[in-house]
Amino acid sequence: MIAPRLEVDLSRIRYNAQVLVELAAARGVSVTGVTKAMRGLPALAEAMLAAGATTLGDSRVENIERLRAGGIDAPTVLIRSPMPSQVARVVAAADMSCNGEVDVVAQLSDAARAIDRVHGVVLMVELGDLREGIMPADVHEAVARCLDLPNIRLCGIGANFACRSGVVPTDRNMSVLSDLADSIEAKFDIELEFVSGGSSANFGWLRSTAHIGRINNLRFGESILLGCEPLHGARIVGLHHDATTIVGEVIESKYKPSHPWGDRASAPFDSIRPDADECSSGWQAIVAIGHQDTDPSALTAPEGVHILGASSDHLVVGSEVPLTVGAEVAFRPGYSALMRAMTAGLHA
Ligand SMILES: *Cc1c(COP(=O)(O)O)cnc(C)c1O
Repeated sequence: MIAPRLEVDLSRIRYNAQVLVELAAARGVSVTGVTKAMRGLPALAEAMLAAGATTLGDSRVENIERLRAGGIDAPTVLIRSPMPSQVARVVAAADMSCNGEVDVVAQLSDAARAIDRVHGVVLMVELGDLREGIMPADVHEAVARCLDLPNIRLCGIGANFACRSGVVPTDRNMSVLSDLADSIEAKFDIELEFVSGGSSANFGWLRSTAHIGRINNLRFGESILLGCEPLHGARIVGLHHDATTIVGEVIESKYKPSHPWGDRASAPFDSIRPDADECSSGWQAIVAIGHQDTDPSALTAPEGVHILGASSDHLVVGSEVPLTVGAEVAFRPGYSALMRAMTAGLHA
């Protein structure tokens, strides 16, 4: 088989999605399945939909186009604010988009009118993580402007957490979003279909809160794919944590000292700190994977193997017993490792 490669067990992903959909449904919350880490792979979307996800989200319009080309006709939402240069593609491919700039919504309206469509808009609200969104005090004005645009349907508001500053979703910031939903509906006499509270970072809040408020949608990617919640990198009990695997092939295996010798300067990639005993010699192997293929610092090695370092195309591992040249080694990817493996084309 081809190496390196990314293996994906869609039945485990579907199971994870189903558990999360049921947990959310019990709180009156729908799940948007987020496909961006796998570049809008239609088979992933099918697994998420079969599990009960009601909408699909991706941050890139080309991934939404890939879903469409793959025969997926479920409602889609672009979860990153559209680039003005792409509004025509966005309204053609996606049913909805998340937006932080009303001027761009106006361009979406023009683009939608040109093809005789109505485009759904979720206005993103900044609630402290300082990535995307309109400041809460400015949301009513943004709503008023959106309601004046002919080919736009304001279908909700949303927020995002823990993607830039690690700000945690709590009852306090979720209630700000809920209160905004109430005040918008009262002031403008409309009904918001979506109050979308966040991502996998909201899992802990979803499970524990006694105040779900108006939140009726969450956008889950990582928790479905990896069975983890990103705030603490914790495994979610009851989910599969091994649905994705990155497999590489051993190209050298030697007994080597653990300390380099010679005068030393910097190496191009030095983010990985050896976790092994640095004083002794040991079995060292090279697996033919590197930074071009994945994020080596976000790989977990199998039992008995530890990652010592990586460059663009070499992953240096230590092991208790020598690895065989030509043998395959299977690693568990974290989110960044999975994402980069997909963009590097490790998945057939
Ligand atoms: C990536 C992203 C998500 C999904 O995040 P996960 O941690 O993968 O669940 C949700 N919403 C937005 C706006 C995103 O950018």
